[in-house]
Amino acid sequence: MTMREKIFAANWKMHKTVAETEAFFQEFVNYPGVGCGHGVVVFPPFTALAAVRGLAGAVPISWGAQNMYSKDSGAFTGEISPLMLKELGCAYVLIGHSERREVFRETDDEVREKVKAAHKHAIRPMVCVGETLEERKGGRASDKVVRQVSAALQGVPAEQVARMVFAYEPIWAIGTGLNASSSDAQEMCGLVRKQLAQLYSAEVAGCIPVLYGGSVKPENIAEYMLQSDIDGALIGGASLQPASFLSIIKNALGSRFSAS
Ligand code: PEP
Repeated sequence: MTMREKIFAANWKMHKTVAETEAFFQEFVNYPGVGCGHGVVVFPPFTALAAVRGLAGAVPISWGAQNMYSKDSGAFTGEISPLMLKELGCAYVLIGHSERREVFRETDDEVREKVKAAHKHAIRPMVCVGETLEERKGGRASDKVVRQVSAALQGVPAEQVARMVFAYEPIWAIGTGLNASSSDAQEMCGLVRKQLAQLYSAEVAGCIPVLYGGSVKPENIAEYMLQSDIDGALIGGASLQPASFLSIIKNALGSRFSAS
Protein backbone atom coordinates (compact mmCIF):
# COMPACT_ATOMS: atom_id res chain seq x y z
CA MET A 1 0.00 0.00 0.00
CA THR A 2 1.48 3.35 -1.02
CA MET A 3 1.88 5.97 1.67
CA ARG A 4 1.53 8.90 -0.67
CA GLU A 5 0.50 12.24 0.75
CA LYS A 6 -3.26 12.90 0.66
CA ILE A 7 -4.37 16.35 -0.44
CA PHE A 8 -7.79 18.02 -0.29
CA ALA A 9 -7.82 21.34 -2.06
CA ALA A 10 -10.54 23.97 -2.21
CA ASN A 11 -10.74 26.00 -5.41
CA TRP A 12 -13.00 28.92 -4.63
CA LYS A 13 -12.79 30.27 -8.18
CA MET A 14 -14.15 33.85 -8.38
CA HIS A 15 -16.11 33.49 -5.15
CA LYS A 16 -15.75 35.07 -1.70
CA THR A 17 -14.99 38.63 -0.74
CA VAL A 18 -12.67 39.29 2.19
CA ALA A 19 -15.71 39.47 4.50
CA GLU A 20 -16.98 36.11 3.20
CA THR A 21 -13.51 34.60 3.61
CA GLU A 22 -13.42 35.77 7.23
CA ALA A 23 -16.83 34.21 7.83
CA PHE A 24 -15.65 30.91 6.30
CA PHE A 25 -12.58 30.70 8.54
CA GLN A 26 -14.40 31.74 11.69
CA GLU A 27 -16.51 28.62 11.23
CA PHE A 28 -13.86 26.35 9.65
CA VAL A 29 -11.15 26.63 12.32
CA ASN A 30 -13.57 25.59 15.04
CA TYR A 31 -14.41 22.22 13.51
CA PRO A 32 -12.79 19.40 15.44
CA GLY A 33 -10.19 17.64 13.29
CA VAL A 34 -9.61 20.50 10.89
CA GLY A 35 -5.89 20.29 11.44
CA CYS A 36 -6.04 16.64 10.54
CA GLY A 37 -2.39 16.42 9.57
CA HIS A 38 -3.19 15.82 5.91
CA GLY A 39 -2.78 18.30 3.11
CA VAL A 40 -5.65 20.73 3.32
CA VAL A 41 -5.16 23.57 0.84
CA VAL A 42 -7.36 26.58 0.12
CA PHE A 43 -7.17 28.53 -3.14
CA PRO A 44 -9.05 31.80 -2.56
CA PRO A 45 -9.15 34.67 -5.06
CA PHE A 46 -6.02 36.91 -5.01
CA THR A 47 -7.86 39.61 -3.08
CA ALA A 48 -8.51 37.27 -0.13
CA LEU A 49 -5.01 35.79 0.17
CA ALA A 50 -3.83 38.28 2.78
CA ALA A 51 -6.95 37.60 4.85
CA VAL A 52 -6.38 33.84 4.60
CA ARG A 53 -2.79 34.29 5.78
CA GLY A 54 -4.08 36.07 8.86
CA LEU A 55 -6.96 33.70 9.55
CA ALA A 56 -5.57 30.28 8.67
CA GLY A 57 -2.46 30.59 10.81
CA ALA A 58 -4.20 28.95 13.74
CA VAL A 59 -4.66 25.62 11.93
CA PRO A 60 -2.19 23.53 9.95
CA ILE A 61 -3.55 24.19 6.49
CA SER A 62 -1.88 25.69 3.43
CA TRP A 63 -3.08 28.19 0.87
CA GLY A 64 -2.24 29.20 -2.63
CA ALA A 65 -3.28 31.26 -5.63
CA GLN A 66 -5.51 30.11 -8.47
CA ASN A 67 -3.12 31.47 -11.08
CA MET A 68 -0.04 33.66 -11.48
CA TYR A 69 2.15 35.12 -14.20
CA SER A 70 5.55 33.61 -14.93
CA LYS A 71 7.67 36.77 -14.55
CA ASP A 72 8.99 38.20 -11.27
CA SER A 73 7.96 41.81 -12.05
CA GLY A 74 7.61 44.21 -14.96
CA ALA A 75 5.20 45.89 -17.34
CA PHE A 76 2.47 43.26 -17.19
CA THR A 77 -0.61 45.22 -16.19
CA GLY A 78 -3.13 43.18 -14.29
CA GLU A 79 -0.84 40.25 -13.57
CA ILE A 80 0.40 38.83 -10.25
CA SER A 81 3.94 37.49 -9.81
CA PRO A 82 5.30 34.53 -7.84
CA LEU A 83 7.19 36.97 -5.60
CA MET A 84 3.90 38.58 -4.60
CA LEU A 85 2.45 35.18 -3.79
CA LYS A 86 5.49 34.21 -1.71
CA GLU A 87 5.08 37.37 0.33
CA LEU A 88 1.51 36.29 1.14
CA GLY A 89 2.67 32.90 2.36
CA CYS A 90 1.40 30.90 -0.61
CA ALA A 91 2.77 27.37 -0.49
CA TYR A 92 0.88 26.34 -3.64
CA VAL A 93 -0.24 27.72 -6.97
CA LEU A 94 -2.89 26.22 -9.21
CA ILE A 95 -1.65 26.11 -12.80
CA GLY A 96 -3.59 25.40 -15.97
CA HIS A 97 -7.04 25.01 -14.45
CA SER A 98 -9.42 24.23 -17.31
CA GLU A 99 -11.15 27.59 -16.82
CA ARG A 100 -7.78 29.28 -17.44
CA ARG A 101 -7.16 27.10 -20.47
CA GLU A 102 -10.66 27.28 -21.96
CA VAL A 103 -11.95 30.74 -21.01
CA PHE A 104 -8.64 32.64 -21.03
CA ARG A 105 -7.01 30.57 -23.80
CA GLU A 106 -3.96 29.68 -21.71
CA THR A 107 -1.62 27.46 -23.74
CA ASP A 108 0.53 24.47 -22.81
CA ASP A 109 3.61 26.71 -23.25
CA GLU A 110 2.27 29.25 -20.78
CA VAL A 111 1.45 26.47 -18.34
CA ARG A 112 5.05 25.23 -18.56
CA GLU A 113 6.49 28.73 -18.02
CA LYS A 114 4.34 29.09 -14.92
CA VAL A 115 5.44 25.68 -13.61
CA LYS A 116 9.08 26.73 -13.99
CA ALA A 117 8.45 30.09 -12.33
CA ALA A 118 6.72 28.39 -9.40
CA HIS A 119 9.70 26.08 -8.89
CA LYS A 120 12.11 29.01 -9.10
CA HIS A 121 10.34 30.51 -6.08
CA ALA A 122 9.72 27.24 -4.24
CA ILE A 123 5.95 27.45 -4.66
CA ARG A 124 4.42 24.02 -5.17
CA PRO A 125 2.58 23.82 -8.51
CA MET A 126 -0.70 21.94 -8.72
CA VAL A 127 -1.18 21.37 -12.44
CA CYS A 128 -4.65 20.61 -13.80
CA VAL A 129 -5.26 18.44 -16.85
CA GLY A 130 -8.43 17.03 -18.39
CA GLU A 131 -10.51 16.51 -21.50
CA THR A 132 -13.72 18.03 -22.86
CA LEU A 133 -16.83 15.91 -23.38
CA GLU A 134 -16.26 16.04 -27.12
CA GLU A 135 -12.71 14.75 -26.68
CA ARG A 136 -13.93 11.94 -24.42
CA LYS A 137 -16.70 10.93 -26.82
CA GLY A 138 -14.22 11.02 -29.69
CA GLY A 139 -11.79 8.69 -27.87
CA ARG A 140 -9.18 11.44 -27.51
CA ALA A 141 -9.22 11.87 -23.71
CA SER A 142 -6.03 9.89 -23.05
CA ASP A 143 -4.05 11.60 -25.81
CA LYS A 144 -5.05 15.02 -24.54
CA VAL A 145 -4.13 14.30 -20.93
CA VAL A 146 -0.80 12.67 -21.83
CA ARG A 147 0.01 15.69 -24.02
CA GLN A 148 -0.88 18.17 -21.26
CA VAL A 149 1.26 16.34 -18.68
CA SER A 150 4.27 16.12 -21.04
CA ALA A 151 3.96 19.73 -22.19
CA ALA A 152 3.81 21.06 -18.63
CA LEU A 153 7.06 19.28 -17.74
CA GLN A 154 9.42 19.87 -20.67
CA GLY A 155 12.76 20.90 -19.19
CA VAL A 156 11.62 20.41 -15.59
CA PRO A 157 14.14 18.25 -13.66
CA ALA A 158 13.07 15.19 -11.67
CA GLU A 159 13.84 16.72 -8.26
CA GLN A 160 11.37 19.54 -9.02
CA VAL A 161 8.73 17.25 -10.50
CA ALA A 162 8.83 15.19 -7.31
CA ARG A 163 7.44 18.25 -5.44
CA MET A 164 4.47 18.72 -7.77
CA VAL A 165 0.83 17.77 -7.58
CA PHE A 166 -1.40 16.89 -10.54
CA ALA A 167 -5.17 17.12 -10.68
CA TYR A 168 -7.11 15.19 -13.29
CA GLU A 169 -10.27 17.22 -13.90
CA PRO A 170 -12.50 16.19 -16.80
CA ILE A 171 -13.97 19.47 -18.03
CA TRP A 172 -17.44 17.97 -18.45
CA ALA A 173 -17.49 17.11 -14.73
CA ILE A 174 -16.50 20.53 -13.37
CA GLY A 175 -19.41 22.35 -11.79
CA THR A 176 -21.94 20.17 -13.61
CA GLY A 177 -22.91 17.68 -10.92
CA LEU A 178 -21.85 14.92 -13.35
CA ASN A 179 -18.85 13.41 -11.59
CA ALA A 180 -16.68 10.84 -13.38
CA SER A 181 -17.16 7.25 -12.30
CA SER A 182 -14.50 6.12 -9.87
CA SER A 183 -13.17 3.60 -12.41
CA ASP A 184 -12.88 6.24 -15.17
CA ALA A 185 -11.19 8.63 -12.72
CA GLN A 186 -8.80 5.85 -11.64
CA GLU A 187 -7.98 5.03 -15.25
CA MET A 188 -7.11 8.66 -16.04
CA CYS A 189 -5.21 9.33 -12.79
CA GLY A 190 -3.33 6.09 -13.45
CA LEU A 191 -2.53 7.35 -16.93
CA VAL A 192 -1.11 10.59 -15.48
CA ARG A 193 1.11 8.52 -13.19
CA LYS A 194 2.17 6.22 -16.04
CA GLN A 195 3.19 9.23 -18.09
CA LEU A 196 5.19 10.62 -15.15
CA ALA A 197 6.95 7.25 -14.89
CA GLN A 198 7.66 7.27 -18.60
CA LEU A 199 9.08 10.81 -18.49
CA TYR A 200 11.03 10.35 -15.22
CA SER A 201 10.95 7.10 -13.27
CA ALA A 202 8.54 4.85 -11.42
CA GLU A 203 10.03 6.14 -8.19
CA VAL A 204 9.32 9.80 -9.01
CA ALA A 205 5.84 8.95 -10.34
CA GLY A 206 5.11 6.94 -7.23
CA CYS A 207 5.57 9.88 -4.87
CA ILE A 208 3.52 12.52 -6.73
CA PRO A 209 -0.04 13.08 -5.47
CA VAL A 210 -2.61 12.84 -8.26
CA LEU A 211 -6.01 14.26 -7.36
CA TYR A 212 -9.42 13.88 -8.96
CA GLY A 213 -11.59 16.96 -9.48
CA GLY A 214 -15.08 17.36 -10.92
CA SER A 215 -18.27 17.56 -8.86
CA VAL A 216 -16.72 15.95 -5.79
CA LYS A 217 -19.16 15.96 -2.85
CA PRO A 218 -19.28 14.45 0.65
CA GLU A 219 -21.39 11.61 -0.81
CA ASN A 220 -18.99 10.52 -3.56
CA ILE A 221 -15.45 11.15 -2.20
CA ALA A 222 -15.07 7.75 -0.47
CA GLU A 223 -15.30 5.76 -3.71
CA TYR A 224 -12.50 7.83 -5.28
CA MET A 225 -10.27 7.33 -2.26
CA LEU A 226 -10.50 3.56 -2.73
CA GLN A 227 -8.71 3.86 -6.07
CA SER A 228 -4.99 3.15 -6.07
CA ASP A 229 -3.94 6.20 -8.09
CA ILE A 230 -6.23 8.83 -6.54
CA ASP A 231 -4.64 10.68 -3.64
CA GLY A 232 -7.29 13.27 -2.85
CA ALA A 233 -9.46 15.84 -4.55
CA LEU A 234 -9.62 19.34 -5.97
CA ILE A 235 -13.02 20.65 -5.00
CA GLY A 236 -14.89 23.67 -6.33
CA GLY A 237 -18.55 24.18 -5.43
CA ALA A 238 -18.60 21.82 -2.43
CA SER A 239 -15.63 23.62 -0.83
CA LEU A 240 -17.42 26.94 -0.45
CA GLN A 241 -19.18 25.93 2.76
CA PRO A 242 -16.94 24.89 5.68
CA ALA A 243 -19.27 22.03 6.66
CA SER A 244 -19.29 20.37 3.24
CA PHE A 245 -15.53 20.84 2.67
CA LEU A 246 -14.87 19.26 6.07
CA SER A 247 -17.32 16.42 5.38
CA ILE A 248 -15.43 15.61 2.19
CA ILE A 249 -12.13 15.41 4.08
CA LYS A 250 -13.73 13.40 6.87
CA ASN A 251 -15.45 10.95 4.51
CA ALA A 252 -12.21 10.59 2.54
CA LEU A 253 -10.07 9.76 5.52
CA GLY A 254 -12.55 7.74 7.57
CA SER A 255 -11.04 6.63 10.86
CA ARG A 256 -7.73 8.35 10.03
CA PHE A 257 -9.54 11.68 10.31
CA SER A 258 -10.67 11.29 13.90
CA ALA A 259 -7.42 9.62 14.90
CA SER A 260 -5.29 12.54 13.78
C1 PEP B 1 -12.86 22.92 -9.79
O1 PEP B 1 -13.18 24.10 -9.64
O2 PEP B 1 -11.69 22.61 -10.08
C2 PEP B 1 -13.90 21.90 -9.62
C3 PEP B 1 -13.57 20.63 -9.71
O3 PEP B 1 -15.16 22.36 -9.39
P1 PEP B 1 -16.44 21.48 -8.90
O4 PEP B 1 -15.98 20.69 -7.70
O5 PEP B 1 -17.48 22.49 -8.57
O6 PEP B 1 -16.81 20.58 -10.02
